[in-house]
Amino acid sequence: MVLAVVPPPVTVRVPAKVNLHLAVGDVRPDGYHDLVTIFQALSLVDEVTVAVADEPGVEVHGEGADQVPTGASNLAWRAVRLLAAHVGKDPDDPKVRVVIRKAIPVAGGMAGGSADAAATLVGLSSLWRLEISRDELAELAGKLGADVPFALYGATALGTGRGERIVPVLGRHQFHWVLAFDRRGLSTPDVFDELDRLRAEGDPPRVGPVEAVLEGLSSGDPRQLALLLGNDLQAAAVSLRPNLRRTLRAGVDAGALAGIVSGSGPTTAFLCEDGDTAVRVAAELAGAGVCRTVRVAHGPVPGARVITTEEPK
Ligand code: ATP
Repeated sequence: MVLAVVPPPVTVRVPAKVNLHLAVGDVRPDGYHDLVTIFQALSLVDEVTVAVADEPGVEVHGEGADQVPTGASNLAWRAVRLLAAHVGKDPDDPKVRVVIRKAIPVAGGMAGGSADAAATLVGLSSLWRLEISRDELAELAGKLGADVPFALYGATALGTGRGERIVPVLGRHQFHWVLAFDRRGLSTPDVFDELDRLRAEGDPPRVGPVEAVLEGLSSGDPRQLALLLGNDLQAAAVSLRPNLRRTLRAGVDAGALAGIVSGSGPTTAFLCEDGDTAVRVAAELAGAGVCRTVRVAHGPVPGARVITTEEPK
């Protein structure tokens, strides 16, 4: 008798991102915007476990789990189906269970759903023992969403196109951040629509050249980088959530070098001089009553990677 060997479950850790620079072009006829952005992967991570299972599906636990769909629209499940089809498995019956433990805020502008999709691609490549390069996975990742390829690579990177074309930015320096989570999420399309509306009415501020930010990064000096952080979506996010103005002020008053809205918001990210300062800023911000919760993080950190392959019981 031949027994089929069931491979052990695979757990992948995947980082959130913050955009140190986010330049948004004018809306194109197809409704999209061209972006020039610098992503940094932070030590705020989701963990995604994939396992062979007779009862396929997605389970979500942790931060904001009740706001995450567990059906076909979950980005991790879309990743399962896409990779299954790509390697000749049945996407309607992939015999996989995905368990997501979230720490990245949902609809927070930190690309948590994209991170889970990237983690699922990496986890399944290991579970199914696929000979597939990161670049090939990145091709697939780009079909799932503009932020998914970056979550595969992590570290610091320049993103163009819709953000899916990634070039690594080299550098050895660590930066220290405080993240303030808002009480509710913000829809990314709503924030882009609001930016289009603000631009039709007036002239909201635009970020400067990306080259200056790249220089600031390579200096390793958080004071220099702090002066260069910028996000074209910030005006739109603040317009939809005026309370963010108060949060941004409170972080700087607490001792951060600078604060920005992360991506489409509403999470705000504060760059600090060092790790000790970040802990102090986080404590003060938590007491200021301007946000739901705060986290300390550092970056850059690596992209999605396998942390355990559990032995079968
Ligand atoms: P981005 O910064 O990439 O625009 P975001 O961080 O603002 O995204 P996400 O947390 O990725 O937002 O979630 C956006 C929406 O996607 C949520 O409202 C949720 O309904 C849906 N979603 C689907 N799959 C997931 C997932 N695995 N985790 C979180 N949200 C998911």
